[in-house]
Amino acid sequence: MELAHGATGADAAAAIGPGLAKAALAIVVDGELRDLAAPLADGAAIAIVTDRDPEALQLIRHDAAHVMAEAVQELYPGTKVTIGPAIENGFYYDFDFPEDVKVSDADLEKIEAAMRVHIEADEPFERREVPVVEAIEIFEGQGEDYKVELIRDLIESQGVEVVSLYRNGPFEDLCRGPHGPSTGRIKAVKLNSLAGAYWRGDEKRQMLTRIYGTAFFSRKDLEQHLERIEQAKARDHRRLGPQLGIFMLREEAPGMPFWLPNGTTLLHLIEEEVQAQLRRRGYKEIATPQVLDEELWHRSGHWENYRDAMYFMQSDERRLALRPMNCPGACLVFDSERHSYRELPLRLAEFGRVSRNEREGVLHGLLRVRAFTQDDAHVYCTEEQIADEVADICEAIDELYARFGFDDVRVELSTRPEKSMGTEEQWAKAEAALTEALERQGREYELNPGDGAFYGPKIDFHVTDALGRSWQCGTCQLDFQMPDRFDLTYVGADDQSHRPVMIHRALLGSMERFAGILIEHYAGRFPVWLAPVQAIVLPVADRHAEYAKSVAAELRAAGIRVELDERSESVGKKVRDAELGHYPYMLVVGDREQEADAIAVRSHEEGELGAMPVAEFAARVRAQSAAGR
Ligand SMILES: [Zn+2]
Ligand SMILES: [Zn+2]
Repeated sequence: MELAHGATGADAAAAIGPGLAKAALAIVVDGELRDLAAPLADGAAIAIVTDRDPEALQLIRHDAAHVMAEAVQELYPGTKVTIGPAIENGFYYDFDFPEDVKVSDADLEKIEAAMRVHIEADEPFERREVPVVEAIEIFEGQGEDYKVELIRDLIESQGVEVVSLYRNGPFEDLCRGPHGPSTGRIKAVKLNSLAGAYWRGDEKRQMLTRIYGTAFFSRKDLEQHLERIEQAKARDHRRLGPQLGIFMLREEAPGMPFWLPNGTTLLHLIEEEVQAQLRRRGYKEIATPQVLDEELWHRSGHWENYRDAMYFMQSDERRLALRPMNCPGACLVFDSERHSYRELPLRLAEFGRVSRNEREGVLHGLLRVRAFTQDDAHVYCTEEQIADEVADICEAIDELYARFGFDDVRVELSTRPEKSMGTEEQWAKAEAALTEALERQGREYELNPGDGAFYGPKIDFHVTDALGRSWQCGTCQLDFQMPDRFDLTYVGADDQSHRPVMIHRALLGSMERFAGILIEHYAGRFPVWLAPVQAIVLPVADRHAEYAKSVAAELRAAGIRVELDERSESVGKKVRDAELGHYPYMLVVGDREQEADAIAVRSHEEGELGAMPVAEFAARVRAQSAAGR
């Protein structure tokens, strides 16, 4: 395609056709997203971006952030702006409102309405480039201190001499861009919520008000998105957990869940699945102390790299620490005897309770906690055994996740982070070993450069839940450092001393977090095999109480997890309450059932199943559980 010298992306789109000229939002030039209005260099490879392209939503969401800032400054004069990026599923902007202005959720609609006026006005986004001195003058004149600080930082850290500004309507922002051609391209916008956020994430600096929103190319897309949010709310484990008697959280111990009877049963059921994998794969189980001498954490490298997240305590003359990881305990166990190469790989598993001092602000139900149990294991092996062991771990993860209804497992390989122990050569070797293991299995994986643990590279496993959300669960981490630090050895076939490699692996990660993910995945409606209470017995009247008790006892004896509603309520009320308990089965017993020595079975999934003998029902539940249903 031939274009005149100095032609822009918009000219290129128009040259292809009038339809594309209308649909064009931006342009990709040599792999970089740019404004349509940017002049093209001769011979550049270009692609026009329209609302069908994945980058397009990000683009109009960033546009929407600027429009929100425009609307906020119009409604609340004197408000200072900071930054407003597009994020996953939407955008935000952080504002410093004047002291006498109090903005709450109730004001979001008003701001949204003001945004719509500017969107309908289809204001163009206009870019200009100005020398930094001039840009500082402009923003100082407007009292926009945060922008001035950002520009000064750009000068200092990157030696920037010219910055770009983007205008929409009366609002002009410091911004790298790119932006869409005009505000009219945002077809649907919604502001979701308000939150506090420190300027530059620094607790010592100004507390700002962050407004979250989202934008789409159509009303319909926005509605679908809001619908998904509603579904997620209905599944929120923080609401379902207490409702279903699974767990509770208390002010007395932030981030440390209290497990209620149903939740404790759930954890045991999950643990039993992990145990089955351990037995099948030749793991040995150990249990090591939760509190260990601080010296050990110096030896392990945790003190150096991890102490900010650790709890320390003093006991007599000793400084102790609550363990944030289980590895050093496993190393002491390995080190307690001499090992021959014939014993390798030695696989030591531990359901290890760990504590991490997370900031209160990041705690989130069971998903981000301060105390949790890892289904941890440490495999000590030779370098030659790494690929087989990693393959075995991957297989265990596939089997285990499928059992819980997760078939879509995403794998990520993370490499050396900035803050790390060990030599270049050790890291290269460890990364090569993990890559080999994945490639030998023909697995697809994503590369995550710089995201490894401080002691070695790792493979992370993500599941996709019923709402299509991705959760990181399992991990498999290679470690050449800790065996060095603990001077671990085995005797080789050559009768010489050798250093083993250590693999840290967790199949589910945190048991508590996994339980939280399961609650949301199943919306609290667990399959029969996993339901903490599989059936509830509901006597119709007080005169059926004795018979109901005998039914419950018979089922318990048959290994069914059952509860009995002994209250003197009407059976209608009992059924309604049982609905909220999300039990797979309700068993109603009245005159007819008592006489026939039977129960009336109502399955949540299959509806009324009619009367059947207790033993028949028990056999049915056992068969379903065995089939993983
Ligand atoms: Zn911007
Ligand atoms: Zn470990």
